[in-house]
Amino acid sequence: MNEIACQFLVIGAGPAGYVAAIRAGQLGLDTVVVDSAKPGGTCLNIGCIPSKALIHAADEYFLLKEAAEGRALPGLTAGTPGLDWAEVVAWKDGIVNRLNNGVTGLFKKSRVKLVEGRARFVDGKTVIVTSETGEQRISAETVVIATGSEPIELKSLPFGGKVISSAEALSLRTPPARLAVVGGGYIGVELGTAFAKAGSRVTIVEASVEILPLYDADLVKPVRRRLEALGVEVMTGAKAQGLAGEDGDLLIETEAGEEQRIACDSVLVTVGRRPVTEGWGREELVLDMDGPFIRTDETRRTAMRGVYAIGDVCGEPMLAHKAMAEGEMVAEIAAGHRRVFDHRAIPAVCFTDPEIVSVGLSPAEAKAAGIATSVGRFPFTASGRAMSLRREDGFVRVVARADNHLVLGVQAVGAGISELSAAFCLAIEMGACLEDLAGTIHAHPTLSESFQEAALGALGRALHV
Ligand code: FAD
Ligand code: NAD
Repeated sequence: MNEIACQFLVIGAGPAGYVAAIRAGQLGLDTVVVDSAKPGGTCLNIGCIPSKALIHAADEYFLLKEAAEGRALPGLTAGTPGLDWAEVVAWKDGIVNRLNNGVTGLFKKSRVKLVEGRARFVDGKTVIVTSETGEQRISAETVVIATGSEPIELKSLPFGGKVISSAEALSLRTPPARLAVVGGGYIGVELGTAFAKAGSRVTIVEASVEILPLYDADLVKPVRRRLEALGVEVMTGAKAQGLAGEDGDLLIETEAGEEQRIACDSVLVTVGRRPVTEGWGREELVLDMDGPFIRTDETRRTAMRGVYAIGDVCGEPMLAHKAMAEGEMVAEIAAGHRRVFDHRAIPAVCFTDPEIVSVGLSPAEAKAAGIATSVGRFPFTASGRAMSLRREDGFVRVVARADNHLVLGVQAVGAGISELSAAFCLAIEMGACLEDLAGTIHAHPTLSESFQEAALGALGRALHV
């Protein structure tokens, strides 16, 4: 068996693992990264990037359709639009391919060795990697577990046939005529909206009292209104029971406890993801667990010296940018830097229509922490830029300490608002006060002025509302 020894070994080349490997390589550590799939992990191959590509394609098609139906901007018309979904998917695959090659190129640039195959731990310093070409043994001084997550399967709706996970949903040949989505969280609402725009009749079945339960009601309201306008049926407080009848209708129990059938061509199950903690020899290690996740400290060290866990496998939020930040950090720690993970400003962005952003504390979270706050909110109905974009649905809200005006959190909902998330995070990371935001000249006319106006509002001196 071929044997390799290195300083830094990463299992999994998703956002957590590939960033860890690149940074370690940059810092001069002799680094090996192992993955059984193409580099980039869930995010790049079957997650963030492909889903956003399809969401954008559906948006573009929907605009053409609105123009063709005389519902676009006054004065705009268009001929009947066409939609070849297979071509859209091929375009999306092209983007994924370019990024796969990009990550491979970055590995080469930082002198990281990529080993293709499935890794299995033998002990805390050694794995055996199995691939089509055989087995090799890799040992390392520092080992990083970055095995990511996978979709949760419902016992009553096992994946297969018409029951699909997000991975299959991203590679369909045509949008299903009737799509039932089980789980109205991130993926269900993002992809449900895209398929509705691409022509599917969509029903979302959500067990909680509201879709997107992670976000507060005010943020979700504009999304609910848009779903209604798109003809998406949203059933809250409802639970999927399985498939029923010859046609395989989706059987659900409604909020009122009644059984109902939803006729559908595909059932997209998006009820969350679970960390991948089995299948790679965890039993050979002595790790503590935190529920389904691997327990780590604030440096992402596990219970074993020299063994780290990062990304989705080590806990919420299961987001790519949190995974990347952890990856960079553990590489620097292995190179001798002093680092701890700071989770104060991890943005949560939902690419729905309109988009939602939340970073730091919401008013309710600040209250629960016993902090007195000043809250300012600026609605897009008062924004000239929002009017000129024909998107007045949404607002920006700033939450600050009442005593010293330190910004604790920012939440917003609106078209294209994801791009403002950086400004929100920077304000919190830099320890900005309301006066800093209010005193910063924001370009006119932009949606970003709403951030300044919300701060002015919290100071009791809003100018435009
Ligand atoms: P993963 O990306 O899951 O990577 C883990 C890697 O480990 C995989 O490549 C896997 O093949 C490999 N692996 C596992 N076991 C082994 C083994 N034994 N041997 C070798 N290799 C192994 N997050 C966002 O922040 N923004 C978004 O817009 C967003 N959209 C999403 C949309 C969808 C449809 C989905 C499913 C997820 C989305 N996410 C998004 C979440 C994001 O994809 C994850 O948080 C992120 O990929 C986690 O990175 P990771 O490196 O921890 O794990
Ligand atoms: P999720 O946790 O966002 O949502 C799952 C939803 O399913 C919840 O609303 C839950 O109440 C509901 N649910 C659970 N069991 C149910 C049942 N039996 N019947 C009906 N509803 C049920 O999970 P997801 O949408 O699968 O996404 C997984 C993770 O991927 C997210 O938590 C997030 O970390 C990540 N992600 C992020 C983004 C982004 O950042 N924009 C996009 C997609 C995915």
